[in-house]
Amino acid sequence: MLPRSVRSSRARRPVALAAAGLLAVAATGALSGCSAFSDGADSPRSAQDGTVRVATAFYALEFVADRVTGGGALAQVDDLTQPGQEPHDLELTVAETEQIADADVVLYETALQPTVADAVEQNATGATIDVGDVVDLLTLDDEGGHDEESLDGEAEQHVTDAEGNEIDPHFWLDPTRLAQVADALADALAEADPDHAEEYAANAADLVSDLADLDAAYTQGLAQCARSTIVVSHDAFGYLERYGLTVEGIAGLSPDAEPTPADLARLHALIESDGITTVFGERLAPASLSRTLADDAGVTTAVLDPIEGLTDETADEDYLSLMQENLAALEKADGCR
Ligand SMILES: [Zn+2]
Repeated sequence: MLPRSVRSSRARRPVALAAAGLLAVAATGALSGCSAFSDGADSPRSAQDGTVRVATAFYALEFVADRVTGGGALAQVDDLTQPGQEPHDLELTVAETEQIADADVVLYETALQPTVADAVEQNATGATIDVGDVVDLLTLDDEGGHDEESLDGEAEQHVTDAEGNEIDPHFWLDPTRLAQVADALADALAEADPDHAEEYAANAADLVSDLADLDAAYTQGLAQCARSTIVVSHDAFGYLERYGLTVEGIAGLSPDAEPTPADLARLHALIESDGITTVFGERLAPASLSRTLADDAGVTTAVLDPIEGLTDETADEDYLSLMQENLAALEKADGCR
């Protein structure tokens, strides 16, 4: 559940693109309060050409939608973040805004992409699911060990909770939280397309089972390790603290947040004191910071993928295979057995 303060501050923004009728629908949705998705039952767009449409805001949500719709057999899935594109602070094209308007269900996350949330509020006519209403999102405060100083200068880009703590949007790195989204999507699709409700539910159950297996693999794989602290390039991996890891980010929640010289000196000291072997970088963000820190501290670098999107390099992978590769990299770096 996203805190009230986030919603009320968003509601004050101008709503230039919305037609009066859509505003009325949005207002009704807002009044319904805590339901996981709002209901656009008065405009069944799927009836127009028989195609059920799901718009997803970024890759992890597309992966869920793809699985729940049987690989696209039951519905057309359009992802708003293109392969290789950095999803933080995404700006939508007109065509993508139309995909939101045409969708029977829109799956998005305000805490990662506030501009997408604005477009959903202004243009969606079907059901909408904000991940923050389905999943318990952590704040940096919950995760602990984060230095406020390392996040300065970028605060305006981040969504905060009622206490002003920055929300960590990278929930998909916890398979159990992604499973909650699968169930919510199956429920919304069952309402939008009741004829296939059982298939959506069965597909979601399959995915939830795969995600439970993945969660078990992480729990088991990281249970007995020589080290538990990992140093990563951007602060995307806080949800892995579920498995006993302590995560230290070089940059902030967004890959373009710059660390200070004091941050780098502190991490250098930590690498030496904890015997850390590896500084993790990622594919979508520039690798220079993690390489500089690793070279400086005389340790190695490895890839830990925040799975914010697929790239040319990972086009043949999916969420599950990338999570398995991340687990293998973590086990190696931390000396797990
Ligand atoms: Zn991120």
